[in-house]
Amino acid sequence: MSENKIPYKIYLEEQEMPKAWYNVRADMKNKPAPLLNPGTHEPMKAEELAGVFCEELIKQELDDTTPYFEIPEEIRDFYKMYRPSPLVRAYCLEKKLNTPAKIYYKFEGNNTSGSHKLNSAIAQAYYAKQQGLKGVTTETGAGQWGTALSMACSYFDLDCKVYMVKVSYEQKPFRREVMRTYGASVTPSPSPETEVGKKILAEFPGTTGSLGCAISEAVEAATTREGYRYVLGSVLNQVLLHQSVIGLETKAALDKYGIKPDIIIGCAGGGSNLGGLISPFMGEKLRGEADYRIIAVEPASCPSFTRGKYAYDFCDTGMVCPLAKMYTLGSSFIPAANHAGGLRYHGMSSTLSQLYADGLMEATSVKQTEVFEAAEYFARVEGILPAPESSHAIRVAIDEAKKCKETGEEKTIVFGLTGTGYFDMVAYERFHDGEMSDYIPTDEEIKACTDKLPVVE
Ligand SMILES: *Cc1c(COP(=O)(O)O)cnc(C)c1O
Repeated sequence: MSENKIPYKIYLEEQEMPKAWYNVRADMKNKPAPLLNPGTHEPMKAEELAGVFCEELIKQELDDTTPYFEIPEEIRDFYKMYRPSPLVRAYCLEKKLNTPAKIYYKFEGNNTSGSHKLNSAIAQAYYAKQQGLKGVTTETGAGQWGTALSMACSYFDLDCKVYMVKVSYEQKPFRREVMRTYGASVTPSPSPETEVGKKILAEFPGTTGSLGCAISEAVEAATTREGYRYVLGSVLNQVLLHQSVIGLETKAALDKYGIKPDIIIGCAGGGSNLGGLISPFMGEKLRGEADYRIIAVEPASCPSFTRGKYAYDFCDTGMVCPLAKMYTLGSSFIPAANHAGGLRYHGMSSTLSQLYADGLMEATSVKQTEVFEAAEYFARVEGILPAPESSHAIRVAIDEAKKCKETGEEKTIVFGLTGTGYFDMVAYERFHDGEMSDYIPTDEEIKACTDKLPVVE
């Protein structure tokens, strides 16, 4: 063992934790396209958003120019309970792969919600409390966001109403009970509680729900209740801003040991963990100070970057939300029922979409059986049982490390390990029993959905 061996886990000191979030949009020459009013197709003004979102979060959402936002002390105090999160050198994985590559992962699963989503949940709950609201509403698919928000709301004593995609509500009773333990009320979506829910139920009686549909219900629940606002766990600019804490810590830890990554990899659902992880590195890239290969990994069954259209689309099924310009499969796109691994949103962060359109990052898609192979391989050598979402990034990190073995290049790879997979054991079971299959949508299936994109002049 050499003297200057990098520690297995690089932990920052508490005082080295970021005191401000970084807003990558400030350094983008081509800004992400603005949200549009779904009726007039004019850019949404802060006043129009005020009935739906918290005021301070709207400011963050619309701000393309301020590079840093101070993290309020109350949020930093909460972060300290589970941050800084470790940046781990995957020595065992490197050895097992017999690769000259150096692999690091930033582990965000070290909190009860089990994912990075808590970083933004606590910020959004804080601003809701600051505004004197009674509570917030949201949707959750796999349940990580709902869990994180429930924790954050109980910390700030806010009411939390979660619309949970019906199929998850039924298949993941443990997630549901964790949310209820933290005091949230959880409703399976679509529900007869909302007008939009009733409408969807009437039109598709047997439906097991979708994220887009749960979003519509949560927005309606917020806008029809006094003292409530809607909050969202991914996709939005404000969420990427809060998640920049991941990238800032990663960069600080690497800088501490003089390490420069060559490749940065993250899974991409709505883009929040990836956007957060890459933000400070992308900032350097945008300012011409450094270069990195940045790779977004998405499921082959829900391939918004790699097969979607870059266009304005609805963010929800009920078409009540503003229009966002993004890589999208169309708001009516629902991944095949056998898709297990989260990352099932039809669109993508408009910030990441612009960066991708400008050629500043790459994207690739992987099949779910390959994802679970990587997940199991990783669990066996590194110990952590990864979330299926995170395992998309593991898959590509392993593939890149294998390429280094062929070429003999000692590249430094950093990937985001966004969470743990304890609530995904039904999917693991299907994989172990050989019952997991891959479904890749055909061009016709995707076209049928993108043909329905709204026409925006
Ligand atoms: C929600 C989630 C994701 C995907 O969401 P992004 O907004 O794309 O980051 C990835 N991993 C885990 C563990 C999640 O809970």
